[in-house]
Amino acid sequence: MLNKWEGIILKSMPYGESNKIVTLYTREAGKMTAMARGAKKPASRLAAVTQTFTYGYYLLRSGRGMGTLEQGEPIDSMRHIREDLEATAYASYIVELIDRLTEDHGQGPNVFGLLYEALHAINEQYDPEAIALFVEWKMLPVAGVHPVLHQCANCGATEGEFAFSFQEIGFLCHRCFQIDPYLVRITPTQLRLIRTFFTVPIQQVGSLNLKKPTKQFMKKIVRTIYDEQVGVRLKSRSFLDQLERTPELLPQKEKPEEQGE
Ligand SMILES: [Zn+2]
Repeated sequence: MLNKWEGIILKSMPYGESNKIVTLYTREAGKMTAMARGAKKPASRLAAVTQTFTYGYYLLRSGRGMGTLEQGEPIDSMRHIREDLEATAYASYIVELIDRLTEDHGQGPNVFGLLYEALHAINEQYDPEAIALFVEWKMLPVAGVHPVLHQCANCGATEGEFAFSFQEIGFLCHRCFQIDPYLVRITPTQLRLIRTFFTVPIQQVGSLNLKKPTKQFMKKIVRTIYDEQVGVRLKSRSFLDQLERTPELLPQKEKPEEQGE
């Protein structure tokens, strides 16, 4: 059976002399894996469209076992992501996270939409760190974690002072603070921010312009949840951590019109 899917390449691995095995996330049918024959050869018409992050239409032949990628028609090669080290690092983290948390043929348009919006925003040069952080929060339910953020996770109260509890995976009100000795005290601003990350569309988060300590706080919470509840270890995360510890590795960003004169 031959199908045309709208998809994004999550992963592309060399296979044998000249082939690639690609993992793509499609809008219509979720994640799938396919053999792209000849795609390793630079002259192949499949070479460019099978690069990680590429967004396009893909013609897939499926049968028993792994499908075959017959043709690809790029819509967006995500050029900025490919050319900017920081953008590449965060986008790699996003595609690896989504790949690890989803099964072939599972999920569907919601995850595709999130993946597309995130890569598109990074490609449009929104803060890649904030976008990756947003994806981490949004993928929690896909990972089977449903944080309680609209009320106290223990008594259901919606008013009072709140803290974040990793034990309850959600907010606890001051009346319930005693049930978790390790809770994290948060300010009302931080509470609103956590809710925002969990509920608003990505375009709004992209334009929030978050300060470094804010991002670090949000990251600490969501990564602790992943470490304790989900237990995925991502290869791209150690590179990202290294990059964050040594920002001087990143080239200084200048606007093109400021150069040369
Ligand atoms: Zn309570």
